[in-house]
Amino acid sequence: MANQEVMQADKKEISWVPIVFIVTYHLALLVALPLYLMSYTPSWLMIGCTFLLIICSGFSITAGYHRLYSHRTYVTKKPIEWVLLFFGTLSTQGSVFRWCYDHRVHHQHLDSARDPYETPKGFWHSHLLWMFKKGAPIEDKYIKDLKQRKLLEFQDKYYGQLVLLTNVTTTLLVAWITGDLIGAFVISFLLRLFINHHTTWFINSLAHMWGAKPYSTEHSAVNNFILAFLTYGEGYHNFHHTFASDYRNGVRWYQFDPTKYLIWGLSKMGLASGLKRTDGLMIKKRLVQADRKLLMEHLSEIRDTNSQVLEEYIEQLSEKLSATITSAKTTLERYRSLDRKQNHIEFEELKTKFNELRSEISRDLKTWRRLCNFVLKMQPAV
Ligand SMILES: [Zn+2]
Ligand SMILES: [Zn+2]
Repeated sequence: MANQEVMQADKKEISWVPIVFIVTYHLALLVALPLYLMSYTPSWLMIGCTFLLIICSGFSITAGYHRLYSHRTYVTKKPIEWVLLFFGTLSTQGSVFRWCYDHRVHHQHLDSARDPYETPKGFWHSHLLWMFKKGAPIEDKYIKDLKQRKLLEFQDKYYGQLVLLTNVTTTLLVAWITGDLIGAFVISFLLRLFINHHTTWFINSLAHMWGAKPYSTEHSAVNNFILAFLTYGEGYHNFHHTFASDYRNGVRWYQFDPTKYLIWGLSKMGLASGLKRTDGLMIKKRLVQADRKLLMEHLSEIRDTNSQVLEEYIEQLSEKLSATITSAKTTLERYRSLDRKQNHIEFEELKTKFNELRSEISRDLKTWRRLCNFVLKMQPAV
């Protein structure tokens, strides 16, 4: 069955429009950039304008196409959507309908032959070559919610014209501001497109190959802070594939996720609302489950004489932690739903119970971390 699916996926027809477009602009950049730099020095104004376009286009994909439309992790005001759609169209990565359809199928069928980004086939397929084959027709059931939006329907219907319009107007605007038409074409159009495309494509390729899997080893997505710097925070892809409805990808305060800061900033200005967050306790539970799998695999590889005792202890402690976390979450939900004035006694009891459970979780997690360090340092018996 799996082989049949792979064979069918391999028989996809060639899609000439992306091939011609991507190959032509790469070749044009390869020839024009050195020639331009040999004859001119780009002004700071040109570099600044291009940088601004790159940043706005990047955010329009991460905060717009990805976290707003594909995953509905927040809602925003119309003017913000127009800005996101303008720069999203300028990015030349397909209409919202096409992009979100591919992305939602990617999440649902990750690491299988149905994954449009062809993740199992390796770097070049998931980075670029998947676009050179005709994509499956869009199935409405995947983007039913988006299809109801007139603005998105308009973008999809006139996508080709809008791509042309946004790219021509921004290039001419940069040429007018800087007084350098050739520079605007080479730097603010060709080079900008190249940088935006490859940084987005890294999320489909490198973010499934190069990094750590702290939240789940059940899929290929990885966390990589270097990629997070290049992709506006999308490099924490292991977290994202595990908790896709969270508006954050870098969930820890120290993880560099500028898209998260942008959405949070918009919410503080009253321009975004309904930001979805995964409960911290559930994240802890997932981490313990992922650790447990890793420890068991390590022990089965090293075959130490103490393996059985350790396996039993790992099982026991992970189950205890999971149960305590679930109980803490239920207590917290109940406690939050109570009216403090009307149910004062129950409110205080639940509050005390929650604090006790939280202390217990904290103690057990310390023991768990020590156990993880101990087991992972164990070497195979000689
Ligand atoms: Zn996603
Ligand atoms: Zn992915």
